[in-house]
Amino acid sequence: MKILGIVNQKGGVGKTTTAINLSAYLAAGGRRVLLVDMDAQGNASSGLGQRGVQQGLYQALLDPASAASFVVETGTPGLSLLPATPDLAGAGVELADDTGALRAVLDALPGYDLVVIDAPPSLGPLTINVLAAADALIIPLQAEYYALEGLAGLTDTVERVRQALNPGLRILGVALTMFDGRTNLAQEVEQNVRGHFGELVFWSVIPRNVRLSEAPSYAKPIGAFAPMSAGAAAYKRLSEEVMQRVEKI
Ligand code: ADP
Ligand code: MG
Repeated sequence: MKILGIVNQKGGVGKTTTAINLSAYLAAGGRRVLLVDMDAQGNASSGLGQRGVQQGLYQALLDPASAASFVVETGTPGLSLLPATPDLAGAGVELADDTGALRAVLDALPGYDLVVIDAPPSLGPLTINVLAAADALIIPLQAEYYALEGLAGLTDTVERVRQALNPGLRILGVALTMFDGRTNLAQEVEQNVRGHFGELVFWSVIPRNVRLSEAPSYAKPIGAFAPMSAGAAAYKRLSEEVMQRVEKI
């Protein structure tokens, strides 16, 4: 079982969109995938049709042995979900001293090939739990002027977690999201990000595509909602790149 964290402390950069659609394509590729919604806003959960859930990850964190009872199946074959509930917002206090809580939950959930974790927009205790549990991280970067701003905070935190808690933690790759190829700015940002991260940047760039923003309100991943869209093609390619890299770790 390989554990992938989707992290960036900025909000609105495409973490949840990436978590849902990457998970769905990994499942379509024949893997048994568990998507863990670590954000109290629950966007990954509602985007897969789980709204108003009463119990989920928070309860599993309190009692890892019971984790399996909070996992739900999604409409996508091979894709299971451990949903978020609003009470996860308060879990930061409890998790501040318990960096291994998420790991304990995942250890209690055998039987998946891949776990994809949708992290919250912060570097707080929930995200530290993600970094402590993950084998590898995917960092979505919005292709805009300030794309690289604030990343030093993330990479410093990754380094500290690697030293103190999880020596095997690596960055699987950086995914450019919401790319608007019609603008010079987006192309400059892409060059800049590739110059900075080199081969860590996935070749598949996710375009800005309205279908990707519509799919969650239909509670479907993009492959089920608009399979012929540019967004679908991009996430399918990204999932193939992710699989190639995962097989090497
Ligand atoms: P995060 O989880 O990092 O906060 P989201 O995945 O929720 O980011 O994306 C923020 C907003 O942008 C959402 O409304 C989402 O639907 C939209 N969005 C994300 N990726 C794209 C894209 N490639 N094209 C168009 N809209 C997108
Ligand atoms: Mg999100």
